Amino acid sequence: MIVVEVLAVRGGDCLWIEWEDLPGGRRRRMLVDGGPGGAKSFPPALKERFDRQPESERDFELVVCTHIDDDHIGGLLALLTSPPPGFSAREVWFNSMRHLDLARDVLGPRSGAHFERLLTDSSIPWNVSADGGAIVVPDDGAPPVFELPGLSVTLLSPTRDGLRRLADVVRGKWPKETGGPGEKAADTLGGRHPAAVPWRRLAAAQYTPDSSKANDSSVAFCLEHADGSRVLCGADAHAETLVRSLHRLQSSGRYRVDLCKLPHHGSAGNVSPAFVDALDCGHWLVSTEGGHVIRASSSESAYRQNEGRNPSMRAMARIFVDAPRPPTFWFNHRGDSTERYEQIAEDYGFRVRYPDSPGGIAVEVRAGRVSRAKRP
Ligand SMILES: [Zn+2]
Repeated sequence: MIVVEVLAVRGGDCLWIEWEDLPGGRRRRMLVDGGPGGAKSFPPALKERFDRQPESERDFELVVCTHIDDDHIGGLLALLTSPPPGFSAREVWFNSMRHLDLARDVLGPRSGAHFERLLTDSSIPWNVSADGGAIVVPDDGAPPVFELPGLSVTLLSPTRDGLRRLADVVRGKWPKETGGPGEKAADTLGGRHPAAVPWRRLAAAQYTPDSSKANDSSVAFCLEHADGSRVLCGADAHAETLVRSLHRLQSSGRYRVDLCKLPHHGSAGNVSPAFVDALDCGHWLVSTEGGHVIRASSSESAYRQNEGRNPSMRAMARIFVDAPRPPTFWFNHRGDSTERYEQIAEDYGFRVRYPDSPGGIAVEVRAGRVSRAKRP
């Protein structure tokens, strides 16, 4: 059994994941990203989650910083700067500039360098699964599998090339950090819902891949529990990288996963038709509180304005239009950008699930069966 709790951290990602270590049944946990924040600003949703967790159960098998964009690393800076009482981690995965052969001379962007300092000062083992090197998919062979008690982690991203390209960018000027805890989530209820959205046309609209080098350095993986349950954590990875790894994992047919956290908060540039096609998946997690407001220049602005950019309507349409079996979408927040799907779910034969309470949603996968879990 794997329980994935997707906290509502503005436009960012923060996944609190727990599983049972069979046959002992001991609860284990990992944290994937911390949402936007900073050394002095703990993301409220993560802070509240720790408050609800008994001090004696704040030990993590693994903490992953998928990449250095602020909407992922920010809350982890807070976590390592002011760890809640009882917090411990057996290991942290974080690819810093020191892991890039080509970039020894390069100082990472501010938040990355800061996280590196915090890790160096802490006693938490860092990338020990890779003998202290980069957590990376090698150029050849099957993607690497890392074993945690009762859980296998198959790495899908980044590739060495992806990390190298990040180093090239960091050598130049690092793009402005995104988000920030003080930024108001764009997505609030009360917007307009135009009736006539050409969903089939949106599903078939041309796909333009994400070009963000930081996103292509994302640590993304597939979790597999001893009971057979599989969960794909897509971080902000490029669809092309994920698809290549999935095909290396299984050369023909669709790769079965029970639950997939959409890459890059459901952006149109990361949920490619090929990615959707590579998976045999009935349940899709959408992790975003909307993020930045949709740009007027977006091809989707004809159908929506003044609301969060994510998830993209094109990304969603690629999943539910002509899906081989009815998909279920699990949203970690209710807002303009997610609520519209409730109105068309029946017409297109899919299901939607929203949080019972603000702060996020928890989804349980047990022996491949997916259901809502109670949030503690
Ligand atoms: Zn992100």
